[in-house]
Amino acid sequence: MRLAGIETESIVDGPGIRFAVFFQGCNHQCKGCHNPTTWDMSGGQEVTLKRVLELLDEADLVSGVTLTGGDPLYQIESALELAREVKNRQLHLIIYTGYLYEDLLSMAHMDKQLDALLDLTDVLIDGPFVLQKRDLSLRFRGSSNQRCINVPQSRKTGKIVVEQY
Ligand code: SF4
Repeated sequence: MRLAGIETESIVDGPGIRFAVFFQGCNHQCKGCHNPTTWDMSGGQEVTLKRVLELLDEADLVSGVTLTGGDPLYQIESALELAREVKNRQLHLIIYTGYLYEDLLSMAHMDKQLDALLDLTDVLIDGPFVLQKRDLSLRFRGSSNQRCINVPQSRKTGKIVVEQY
């Protein structure tokens, strides 16, 4: 997988101490993006799943893993492989994406990998960063349009269930 970096003990990418994997590549081009160096699909560096898992297994304090970027959904196959390993370890999984949850649900009808990834996701923090809606008081989000969606509950009820972080 092509990564911009890994933070082995993050406290800003979701609740608790988390292992944060920053995927390289993003096409959403949000104005005011906090990290435009992650946009280039050929930037960052290639890292094997094996190496990521070695680092994860050394990170004893983490209670969850966050896939962020960039946008991990541009590398759906790698994101899915990693997500399976995260859930095999019974860790909480958050995925950040610039896509809207509703659009992902539609896309998942045609994309089995995306559908499988959503099935493994505990919380999806969705939507682009919108500069006009920037709110520094929000936890784990940059702008107020972004939602922390409880994916299992939302898929079960057919309504969007939002986590109150
Ligand atoms: S989705 Fe995230 S990484 Fe991509 S352009 Fe928007 S803010 Fe930047």
